[in-house]
Amino acid sequence: MPDLATPSNTIKILNKHNFSVQKKFGQNFLIDRHILEKIVKAAKINKADCVLEIGPGIGTMTQYLAHHSGKVIAVEIDKKLIPILHETLADYDNVIIKNQDILKTDLLSLVNENNDGKPIKVVANLPYYITTPIIMLLFEQHIPLESITVMVQKEVAERIKTGPGSKEYGALSLAVQYYARPEIIASVPPACFIPRPAVSSAILHLKKHKEPTVTVNDEGFLFGIIRAAFNQRRKTLANALTNASDLSLARSQVTNALKEMGLIESIRGEALSLIEFALLADKLGCT
Ligand code: SAM
Repeated sequence: MPDLATPSNTIKILNKHNFSVQKKFGQNFLIDRHILEKIVKAAKINKADCVLEIGPGIGTMTQYLAHHSGKVIAVEIDKKLIPILHETLADYDNVIIKNQDILKTDLLSLVNENNDGKPIKVVANLPYYITTPIIMLLFEQHIPLESITVMVQKEVAERIKTGPGSKEYGALSLAVQYYARPEIIASVPPACFIPRPAVSSAILHLKKHKEPTVTVNDEGFLFGIIRAAFNQRRKTLANALTNASDLSLARSQVTNALKEMGLIESIRGEALSLIEFALLADKLGCT
């Protein structure tokens, strides 16, 4: 099977199978082998690795992953792509194709069955309509995971990577940075895909922390505080937290906690680092 990462080979396969691209599944197929090489390099794939690929499409990236890794588990929602994948990946005996929705997949069982519970690497050109739920699911299900290397919308990569003070900083930056260290590897223009997406993309590498960089008494409460702070990001942090009915916090509790931390009462959530949010959560959680 020829390398699918060229416009002509991709079009040939799509036409051969009379396949029409499904916008609702976020289908934008990669056609640039330099980008695929960058992804495989960033993920540091080697023959000892088991890779989970989310949304293999017609198998373009899967070919590269199968070539470099020990095993690939490819989870694809679109059943019309399954016969195409069986054809394009016929040369590889280390690929398992699953016709499933990744958001409804029991990832822990999948990893335990296929990699004896050892950490996997996730590599994907993600469907952009569900980028955030997929990334959060991978962390929150607490599966054995080494890293995530994914193509995402450039703007989302920037939101994930940024720190306090920038306008992109928010709940997503903090949630991801709680679990991993983000790095933007490269920008990828729309011309690298068929069909071309309306936005620019970026390769994002998330190296999971071996030990958490912050520890809190109650992870759920920390994320509740963070969500509330950015739900009303133009308000002061004290107002945003006391307005959040699910947190049931009195204004004096919040202002006292801020004072103890040496922060001004009028501070906004966007000025706090992850460590400060963690400290605040522990202070508020035990009052
Ligand atoms: N990996 C291929 C490539 O790089 O050319 C295709 C990437 S395309 C951006 C996203 C892929 O994810 C599509 O094949 C789409 O059908 C699949 N997909 C969309 N939603 C999904 C879901 N919930 N679970 C699994 N796959 C999904």
